[in-house]
Amino acid sequence: MSVIDEVLVANEIYSRTHELRRLTPRPERKLAILTCMDTRLSIRTLGLKTGDAHIIRNAGGIVTEDSLRSLVVSHYLLGTEEFMVINHTDCGLMQASEEDLRTRIQNRAGTAAVSPAFFYAFQNIEENVRHQLQKLRTHPWIPKEIAVRGFVYDVANGRLREVSGASSVPDASDSRSPAGMCTDCSHAREIESARGSTFYFCERSATDANFVKYPRLPVLQCPGYAPKGGGNAEGRPTQ
Ligand code: SF4
Ligand SMILES: [Zn+2]
Repeated sequence: MSVIDEVLVANEIYSRTHELRRLTPRPERKLAILTCMDTRLSIRTLGLKTGDAHIIRNAGGIVTEDSLRSLVVSHYLLGTEEFMVINHTDCGLMQASEEDLRTRIQNRAGTAAVSPAFFYAFQNIEENVRHQLQKLRTHPWIPKEIAVRGFVYDVANGRLREVSGASSVPDASDSRSPAGMCTDCSHAREIESARGSTFYFCERSATDANFVKYPRLPVLQCPGYAPKGGGNAEGRPTQ
């Protein structure tokens, strides 16, 4: 029997009592958590029960277009008032660079793919958490009243450690950097149209199919980002 078939059997047994029937879609404790899909982190490790919070998960616990969408829905439609971002030690996304991951998967699959455009690999976990916090705190649809806090979960000892401080990645909501990371990226060419509007041409698009010629602005996270003043291999600014 496949695992999916086992789940179907378990669900049949669960449905006989269906004790979660009385829960509503609104998290009882008005909390939304963005975290990694890692198996070692669960509502149990956070002292929560089903119905307490929205748990939004992806590889890494990254604020992407889609997880941002979920958080916005969580607050505006379903009443959450606090956001927790949790990354964890020993995350798979810390063990390879963006390019390594793409090459490895491409070799296994035997073919290239344009999507997903990014894996959001990272090396410095605190910096990665700060970057996610900044993306949320500077987004125009995340009200200032929402508590947005970031944490590292240590899979070895089971403890959460709070990460404070702002990221050094450019603030895309800042009127001085409306293009986000492209604003000071060495791969960007600023172009002014005949109508006077400014857009950015990404030079990496000429050699790498993962980058589009004219990125949709603001670019909030980009593994190709290489700050003009210098930066590390992951395209993050050095501290
Ligand atoms: S590499 Fe990324 S940040 Fe740099 S110009 Fe291209 S899209 Fe913008
Ligand atoms: Zn992980």
